[in-house]
Amino acid sequence: MGRPNEYAGNMRWGWQCPRCDADVSVTRDPDSETFTWACPSEDCPAVGFGFTSRRRARIALREYREAYQDVYR
Ligand SMILES: [Zn+2]
Repeated sequence: MGRPNEYAGNMRWGWQCPRCDADVSVTRDPDSETFTWACPSEDCPAVGFGFTSRRRARIALREYREAYQDVYR
């Protein structure tokens, strides 16, 4: 956070877990050729998989966050 140029072109900029705000990494599954994001915390069930691009994974992560916050609003 705090370095604006990371947002311009770096695909790895800080995505955060919708539930616990841990830094979430997006990985590519070589078997299915899809992208997965998963919270690194063992206590946290947040995960998404089956996305065809990092961009779609990011969109899904944002939608997950919005849905999660709607539930607890
Ligand atoms: Zn989490």
